[in-house]
Amino acid sequence: MEIPLDYVSQNTWNKLIHHIALTNEEPPYLFIDKDVIREKVSLIGKNILNSKVFYAVKANPDIEVLKFLNELGIGFEIASEGELRILSSLGVEPSRIITSNPVKTLKFLYEAALYGIKYYAFDSKPEVDKIVRYAPKSKVYVRLSVSNEGSEWPLSRKFGVEIEDALELLQYSKEKGLEPVGITFHVGSQCNNVYNWNSALDKAKELFDMAKDRGIELSLLNLGGGYPIRYTKQVLQIDAIERKINTVLQQKFSKDIEIFIEPGRAVVGDAGIFVATVVGKAKRDNENWLYIDIGVFNGLMESVGGIKYKYVVGSRNEPKRWTIAGPSCDSFDVIDRDVELPEPEIGNLILILSVGAYTISYASEFNGFSIPKIVMV
Ligand SMILES: *Cc1c(COP(=O)(O)O)cnc(C)c1O
Repeated sequence: MEIPLDYVSQNTWNKLIHHIALTNEEPPYLFIDKDVIREKVSLIGKNILNSKVFYAVKANPDIEVLKFLNELGIGFEIASEGELRILSSLGVEPSRIITSNPVKTLKFLYEAALYGIKYYAFDSKPEVDKIVRYAPKSKVYVRLSVSNEGSEWPLSRKFGVEIEDALELLQYSKEKGLEPVGITFHVGSQCNNVYNWNSALDKAKELFDMAKDRGIELSLLNLGGGYPIRYTKQVLQIDAIERKINTVLQQKFSKDIEIFIEPGRAVVGDAGIFVATVVGKAKRDNENWLYIDIGVFNGLMESVGGIKYKYVVGSRNEPKRWTIAGPSCDSFDVIDRDVELPEPEIGNLILILSVGAYTISYASEFNGFSIPKIVMV
């Protein structure tokens, strides 16, 4: 196979090729390069003053991945008792865990409070009432709705409130004995549009000022997630995004506010490569179909939202245009169309790049096809 050097480093490639050649690991599996994760963790937050990083566990909650991240000293953002249970089994201190899901289950709230977690997001009065009941006196931040324009996986329709409502909610949480400390937002996952952060920061600043006028002194700004990774298209670099954010923060906000960042995709996404197998080929009308053993249901769910992956095969044949489909019997299980690839043989390996995030965590065993195991090297 030729090294797709625009996409993976020589180091990652060498590790992968060694693993394939020297082990009998049976595909399909998700190969994860620890060096890439380590690099990302040291990069993220570096260019934003006063920032703390909390990995959004839903991107990849594999125990080995979390164990490794824990050793690197990063914090965690969680949304469920299931995610909490894994962190608790690793002995992660509650001070390194926050929860930014604005609507939490009662069971999760109960267990989070019992564990000693102090930071909670909210965007409605019923949520304030729930937090008061299960986790009284907690620190809370309100979720502001912001533009998700140009984000490949928007999150804006489900959560967030406008400034006026946010102000009322901060006031209400204070009256109920909680400690309103700040604001959060999410610009949308795989966000490749700096404007979203700029406009979100403007909105947050406006709310900071309005809250101050009401005697609520906010001290925390949680920037959420959204940093993009490279799938097929080039994307903004994280250090460039952070420098822009930091400039705005220094211009508009008080020097001593604390910044939280909650990246998920950017921490683990481009550290992962699927090692899959070509299981079938067909020609239907004029369309060339390629069937592989990882599909929409057992790993590539985000393809239905428009994520286009990069594929690598070892063949030296003439390139053709392929429709790539998963192994199940469901016609929904089509991963991509118009993918140019040299024709592989049945039984050949096919690699799919940048698949460390939102793949295994979304996967099911629909139709009896197993979820690829994770191999961390
Ligand atoms: C999913 C999520 C994140 C992580 O988003 P990415 O786009 O993967 O960086 C961060 N914060 C919250 C509240 C989320 O729901």
